[in-house]
Amino acid sequence: MLKINKLSFNDFLTDIMRYNELVAPVKTDESRFEVIKDISRIQMDLHTYFPAKKFFFKKQQTLYAAENNRFTVPEMVTDKKQRVMIGLKRCDLNSIKRQDMMFMKETTDPYYAEERERTILIGHHCNQPFDDYCFCSSMDLGDFYDLMLYDKDDAYLVEIGSEKGRNFVDRYRKYFWDTDLFLRAEDRRIETKLQLNKRDISPYYYSPDWKKGVDICFSCAACVTLCPSCYCFDLHEEIDAKLCKSEMKRNWDSCQLHCFTKVAGGHIFRETREDRFKHRIYHQIQYFKDRHGMSLCTGCGRCIRGCPTRINFIQILNEMKEQT
Ligand code: SF4
Ligand code: SF4
Repeated sequence: MLKINKLSFNDFLTDIMRYNELVAPVKTDESRFEVIKDISRIQMDLHTYFPAKKFFFKKQQTLYAAENNRFTVPEMVTDKKQRVMIGLKRCDLNSIKRQDMMFMKETTDPYYAEERERTILIGHHCNQPFDDYCFCSSMDLGDFYDLMLYDKDDAYLVEIGSEKGRNFVDRYRKYFWDTDLFLRAEDRRIETKLQLNKRDISPYYYSPDWKKGVDICFSCAACVTLCPSCYCFDLHEEIDAKLCKSEMKRNWDSCQLHCFTKVAGGHIFRETREDRFKHRIYHQIQYFKDRHGMSLCTGCGRCIRGCPTRINFIQILNEMKEQT
């Protein structure tokens, strides 16, 4: 087993910053992942309010531009620095795995792939759930990281999860020490108070209990924007007033918005707020699992924490199931 002594951790980070872009959790108005210029701002324990997904799946991406009948595709910058992203929690890492499945499995999205390929993922295991909205321990999360750090007194124990992680350790070998310490099952575990009852949700689609959430939902889309796993986008063309120039842009989109399912002719497939509300939850918990063998949701709790009316969809589902 390898360890990094906490006393040399800041030297390690400073060394990383010399040749790489370092991204880590910091507290600003809200907690988020940021490119680090000053390592004293890093808070490894933070479970960030905003997810890390914007570093891979950009909020907005120009796909091509047109000017006077000439089309250009923005050039990919191939000599960007390697990025080291540190402090990701197990839910964050599993959400990146799900986004990889969407953007790099069947068809490769070059913009996403470029960002993923230049990034080393270094996780930090939570010993305790961040708050009462976390429910990751009921979501069957797997090991997905290049390196994983576990707090152990005056050191971090290190697990290597990939070839990329092993090469990284070789590169910074002077900070990694062999140790007789080892990880027990309980060091890897995390127990959240909130737990999803695993019973199949298909029979509950018409339950009147959905009203507990639907009646206080604003369709504001905060839940989807904060979700580290959600991957929907919209294509939108911006044209200048003289109709000479245009840019095709890809923007994050949300199934909670009324116009999300609008098609030519004006028909909207999920017209009611109830349809949209239920769709998000069924997609997170069931539809994605039916297709890919794992739920899209990783139990991070961000959609509950960030909802203006704190709709706790896990509590709603559990109560529905307990009544039958
Ligand atoms: S954040 Fe809450 S209120 Fe807003 S769309 Fe999501 S569930 Fe509805
Ligand atoms: S659905 Fe909610 S709890 Fe699940 S991954 Fe998305 S934000 Fe986190």
